[in-house]
Parts: sequence; C-alpha cells; structure tokens
Amino acid sequence: MVSESTSTAEDTASEPNPAHESALATARHQLAEAASIIDIDPNIVERLNHPAAVHEVTVPLKRDDGTVQMYQGFRAQHDSVRGPYKGGLRYHPDVSREECIGLSMWMTWKCAVMDIPFGGAKGGIVVDPKDLSDAETERLTRRFANEIRNIIGPMTDIPAPDMGTGAQTMAWIMDAYSVQESQTTPGVVTGKPPVIGGSKGREEAPGRSVAIVSREVLEYYDNPLEDATVAVQGFGSVGANAARLLDDWGATVVAVSDVNGAAYDPEGLDTRSIPSHDEEPEAVTTYADETISNEAIFELDVDLLVPAAVGNVITEDNVDDVQADLIVEGANGPTTFTADSILDDRGVRVIPDILANAGGVTVSYFEWLQDINRRAWSRERVNEELETEMLAAWEAVRREVETRDVSWRDGAYIVALSRIADAHEYRGLWP
Ligand code: NAD
Repeated sequence: MVSESTSTAEDTASEPNPAHESALATARHQLAEAASIIDIDPNIVERLNHPAAVHEVTVPLKRDDGTVQMYQGFRAQHDSVRGPYKGGLRYHPDVSREECIGLSMWMTWKCAVMDIPFGGAKGGIVVDPKDLSDAETERLTRRFANEIRNIIGPMTDIPAPDMGTGAQTMAWIMDAYSVQESQTTPGVVTGKPPVIGGSKGREEAPGRSVAIVSREVLEYYDNPLEDATVAVQGFGSVGANAARLLDDWGATVVAVSDVNGAAYDPEGLDTRSIPSHDEEPEAVTTYADETISNEAIFELDVDLLVPAAVGNVITEDNVDDVQADLIVEGANGPTTFTADSILDDRGVRVIPDILANAGGVTVSYFEWLQDINRRAWSRERVNEELETEMLAAWEAVRREVETRDVSWRDGAYIVALSRIADAHEYRGLWP
C-alpha cells in the first residue's frame, strides 16, 4: 500500500545542529545560501524547500525460516519541473524519511547542474542487507517494487542503485515492474546489468567524473596532475575508480582507505594492486606495507583530498586537522555545512558532490536514453559523452565562480538553482 503526503511540520525544521547535521538540514542551508546570492523569487525557494511528495510503504517479507517481518520503505520525490524524478534506492538501517528528503533535494540540484532533464528523488528500505540471505533480498526487493509500482516508471520516477543496492537489485525491480505491466520496461530503473539494458561505463562513471573534475580544478590552480599528491577516503565504486584514473593520468596517490584504515606510501601507491571494495571487501590495509588510521588520512598534507566513502566525515570536530589545499567531494554530503564555512574561511577550495560525482547520474541518463531508444552505446561513446558533459558543467560553474567571486559550492548551486527557477518561472503554479 502506498500512502502519500506532502511535507509536514517535522521536515520544516532546518536549523543546523553543528554536531550532527542531517542531510536535510544541510541541503536546506545550501539552498538558502545560494538563493541569497542570486535574484530568485522567494516563492520558488519556498517550493524547493519541500518535497513534492514522500511515499511511505510497509513491505512484508517471508523470511527463510517461515516467519514474516515488516520493513519500512520510502520514496521521496522532491521536484520534477525539469523532468521525471531520478535518484537511488538505499538499503541501510539509517534510512529515514528525513534523510530521503535531503538526498532527493541533492539529486534535483545534481541533475540541474549537469543540465540533465530529470528532477530529484531518493528512497530506500530501513534494513541491514547483511542480515538477509540472497533469496530474502530478492523477495524484499520484488515486493518493494510492487508497493511503489504506481509511483515509478520511465516517464515518472526512475530509481537507481545506492548504498546496499546494486545492479542485481535493479534487475529484480525491472523484472517485477515489467511483469506487472506486461511489457519489458528497461527504462524504469538505471544501473542495470548491460545484458538487460544497462549502460557500459555506468559502474565507473561517478569515479571517472571525480577524476575529470579533479584534473580540471588542479590545472585551473596551476597544479598539473603530474605534480599533485592525492589522498582518497573510501575504495569502493567511487573512490577506487577515481584513485585509479588519477593514478593512470600521472598523479601521485599517497593514500587510499576503507573502513579499516588506509594504505599509505608518500612515494605513491600502485592503486591497481590494491583490491577495490567490489573486488575484495575491506581489504585495503591487508595489501599495504604501511598503514595509517582512517582519521589520519584527513591530516595528510596533500594537494587533493577526495572523501569518497560516506557522508558527514569532515565536521566541526576534525576540520581544523585538514591539511589539503583542495577537496573534491566523491561521496554525497561528506562535508557538513559548518565545516564547509570553516574551510571556506581558511581558503581551502571544496568542489561539491553535486558536480564532482555527477558522472553517475549522467551515465544513468545515457542508460535511460539507450533504453527508451532500444539502442546500446559503446563504452568509448559513453566515456566521450561523459567527458563532454562534465566539461560543460565545469565551465558553467567556473563562470559563476569567476563572475560572482563565490565558492565552488555556491557556483554549482547558482547554476543549478537558476535553471530550476527559470523552469518554475516558465511553467508557473497550477492552478
Ligand atoms: P561502496 O560501497 O562501493 O564503497 C564504499 C567504500 O567506503 C568502501 O571502501 C568502504 O570500506 C568505505 N567506507 C565505508 N564506511 C567508511 C567509513 N566510515 N570510513 C572510511 N571508509 C568507509 O560505495 P560507493 O558506491 O563508492 O559510494 C561511496 C559514496 O559515493 C556514497 O556517499 C555514495 O552515496 C556516493 N555516490 C555513489 C555513486 C555510485 O553510483 N556508486 C554515485 C554518486 C555518489
């Protein structure tokens, strides 16, 4: 059963709690900050402060032992003025209504900064996937897909993988949806295996965009990649792909980490000899001659720091220890609002997630185009078009940074918000 509600009083509280900022509080503060810089109708800002809808479902699962357990699932749909809702589905014990709303807002800005014709959404199930067998995960996913079937679709809302979900999860959702609709509908989700309509290059895309943006920003500040030292927190889909590309392109990657700690070599690591999270989970430190703690990675005096693990890792508590000159955000929301202003005051440049890791949603858009046109692109074409889109977005943000003398985060938000506000202006409010 799908219940639908518009925003309520509890998600209007947006005062930041510096010690523990929620994704929603951070997203609202970033919106307010960008809106204060550009001339935008406050009525539009007010609309963007709230999700269009938050769907909450209860998903029953028959466990392998025959008992039935109930799980809570969400889908927050923030804004669709520029196109269908788009965003990941997360399986994690910390999934909440508030978190889904905050993350759905980031998806709206991310699609807009890339000029992709999608809006923002996010959802998930409150579950630790490690507690489920594969068969249980499949049954939970298929039932969840059915519970949200009426609100997703290739022209309405297109989910994708996120924490705790992957290509197999998307394949089950695509199958469940297609069976119910009586037609194979690959465009209902992205991040699928290529054999059923997934795109080549999708898995690598967020890491590739992080690497492209890092290369451009280093060059912009006259510090070419070949002379730069880099530390990457998180060696998963985003972190490992970013670290390896930067390594391939000539940077010296001195540290990479996973949840257990970091491999460290001031002369530069061979990033391809260290297994990514996908290749061998949480094994980074076992392949290292020298290790340092996960916290110590933030204290390294490197040219570029890439937090690419989880959100809220650079906070008021550790921001003073950060030695890097430049931070490119690989994860979503790794820097709290408070830490971000402290870094800004110190002159540390932060390239925001909504630009840096947007390669993921950009290749998801390519996947959707391939699905609705029934035509597969080569990996070379995907990578070439991604490079073109990333450079266009980078240029648009750079122009704002230079013209208005604002931070890179504000520049990216200004680009995104201007496009969204113009779309709202033209479409108006009905009725
Ligand atoms: P992943 O599961 O593939 O890898 C995560 C990595 O981070 C692992 O190496 C893990 O050991 C490490 N890690 C986890 N918790 C940690 C902690 N507390 N401290 C240090 N390391 C920790 O995840 P991913 O897909 O690479 O996603 C990473 C981040 O990037 C998330 O914030 C995600 O939302 C964001 N993101 C992912 C994509 C995508 O398509 N994969 C796209 C855009 C943004």
